[in-house]
Amino acid sequence: MSDLHTDVRYVKGIGEARAKSLAKLGITDLYSLISYFPRAWEDRAAIRTIDTLTIGEYACVKAMVAAPPVASHIRKGLDLLKVKVVDSTSTLFLTFFNQPYLKNSLVMGETYVFYGKAEGTLLHKQMTNPIFEKENAHQVTGRIMPIYPLTAGITQNVMHRSIRQGLDACETILPDVLPDEIRSKYHLCHIGYAYENIHFPESFDALAIARRRLTFEELFLLCTGLQLLRRRRGDLHGLRCTPIDMSPFYNTLPFQLTGAQQRAVEDAIRDMCADRPMNRLCQGDVGSGKTMVAAACIYFTAKNGHQSAMMAPTELLAQQHYRSLAPLLENLGIRCALLTGSVTAKTKKSIQAQLAAGEIDFVIGTQALIAKDVDFASLGLVVADEQHRFGVTQRAALSAKADNPHVLVMSATPIPRTLALIIYGDLDVSVINELPPGRQTVDTFAVPNSYHPRVFQFIRKHVAQGRQAYIVCSLVGSDDTIPNEKKTVMDFTIKLQQDIFPDLRIGCVHGKMKAAEKEKIMSAFVHAELDILVSTTVIEVGVDVPNATVMVIENAEQFGLSQLHQLRGRVGRGQHKSYCILFSDSKSEDTKTRLKAMTRTNDGFKIAQEDLVLRGPGDFFGQRQHGLPSLKVADLKCDMELMHLARQAANEVLDADPELEYPEHRGISEKIHMLFESAADSMN
Ligand code: ADP
Ligand code: MG
Repeated sequence: MSDLHTDVRYVKGIGEARAKSLAKLGITDLYSLISYFPRAWEDRAAIRTIDTLTIGEYACVKAMVAAPPVASHIRKGLDLLKVKVVDSTSTLFLTFFNQPYLKNSLVMGETYVFYGKAEGTLLHKQMTNPIFEKENAHQVTGRIMPIYPLTAGITQNVMHRSIRQGLDACETILPDVLPDEIRSKYHLCHIGYAYENIHFPESFDALAIARRRLTFEELFLLCTGLQLLRRRRGDLHGLRCTPIDMSPFYNTLPFQLTGAQQRAVEDAIRDMCADRPMNRLCQGDVGSGKTMVAAACIYFTAKNGHQSAMMAPTELLAQQHYRSLAPLLENLGIRCALLTGSVTAKTKKSIQAQLAAGEIDFVIGTQALIAKDVDFASLGLVVADEQHRFGVTQRAALSAKADNPHVLVMSATPIPRTLALIIYGDLDVSVINELPPGRQTVDTFAVPNSYHPRVFQFIRKHVAQGRQAYIVCSLVGSDDTIPNEKKTVMDFTIKLQQDIFPDLRIGCVHGKMKAAEKEKIMSAFVHAELDILVSTTVIEVGVDVPNATVMVIENAEQFGLSQLHQLRGRVGRGQHKSYCILFSDSKSEDTKTRLKAMTRTNDGFKIAQEDLVLRGPGDFFGQRQHGLPSLKVADLKCDMELMHLARQAANEVLDADPELEYPEHRGISEKIHMLFESAADSMN
């Protein structure tokens, strides 16, 4: 065992079966084994006396078995083992469930260290299923213990033993990707110390030092990777456009662009007139009018003699954009087309031919538009709607196509500026921080479940007036069951249809549905053929049904603030006053603060800021939404300071060695490659 990539099967105690289970955790060789970091650490270092235990706390006590353990068979599948232990201060009663064999492991008169949760009362303290070992063993007690995320077939014990062996085997061969200079400048510990102490810390101080180093490394690699993408873009040559008179475009609009929209358009035009291709994120709250910014860019590109393509995440959104953009642009002499999966083969062929011949100036479609064999005569601009579907790597891949077209990404997820700088390290950002005038706010209420009858009446009233409603029900499972999304939504819909609204037209969509089926129902709702749409959060971001005025969210405590805000953004899109009702019986202070924030403001940026503070960015973005490598140790909320240092270090390294060609930077380059590759995989 001398190579980092030695198969994990060579570790003592790991055979075929365990290797298979470990593979599920991404552990295949020694390196991935020791890079599998704990999710928590338990303080089993301090040994306490029984009299100092407070009820509810986890602690270690050293105590002697005072009487022979008593086993009893309660019924089939339920065996108890009761053991009385004492130390110099008091008595503790232990109960073990279904482990009758422990009877022989606990010998009267012998002293053991027990670790568990103190239960019972102050006069009769108990522990259930404590972990224990003979005194002075120091294997699972008397130290800080790492706790690993597990999978079936793998116990904490197996993890501890295997990782211990892995660390010993790798001790002298662990490569340090951080150059010495960076390490000493930023006061970071050596890689060996970091790996040892992230797993088996000598003390909590040592753990903090290890964690800081590994977090730094992770953020440093992320920043370096993003900076690299950004700098490489600087070397690319895009289609350089020239400024034109935009007034014909502005004059056909039924309204004036807001100041923020104008600034975003100016940013984009400036980019497109420069030498390198544009790579800009246009970020604006729901309803801030991002589509018009795109329209302006499309007009600009067409008048410069190039084509534009717009990608939407779903067919429905593509159609919606087509309906709103085509009439406007056709009026200005721009030839538009819609190319989605559902157009006939013949139409598709004809559109493809026209695109190749340069007879179409602007095409809207789904992602396939760019990925597949569609040729453009001169593709100048790619617009991607709803950025989170397209990760960093997709954007990079995109830029490689069609002679580096300009890229404009639009996102409705408002991200606080500090974070945007980092997450979108390779993008320039325009923020639309202003809504078109006259926009009504959505009145928002947080209510307990007892308000259901009143809210159902409220929905009924709105439907009677010709309006529509969304009901979002989240997945709530009891502790040990994984909620079944399909069942939850279907059951709820059936209940609503049978018991509450037998006379109304109700549809439901959930994530387990086939895309086509989902779109059919969404489309029925868009065309007002349904009064109520019940769904999980699958209702597409960006779907525009101005006639919908009520958004009801069940178990609102299940959602993050930004997600609630996105959902609320589905209403308040037309001339009718709209409402959002958040149901929750949660007593948690956190939840109350969050829901309160929703009722107080309609401003997505304020909400995002609050969300970030309350939950941290991991949850904030949801799972992998950003398409960035997932971070193993870093917590972007707590580690902001470190993030800035890492970014600084990344720039220092790249300034000295822009392509990471120095031998001491080879490790960095390899790791970045791996990180971004796996991020790309996880997006698909
Ligand atoms: P989003 O940023 O969520 O994509 P949209 O581009 O769909 O927002 O715009 C929302 C609505 O606001 C559309 O109906 C659009 O026509 C309208 N709109 C956009 N810009 C303005 C403006 N400057 N003044 C008035 N209405 C506008
Ligand atoms: Mg939009």
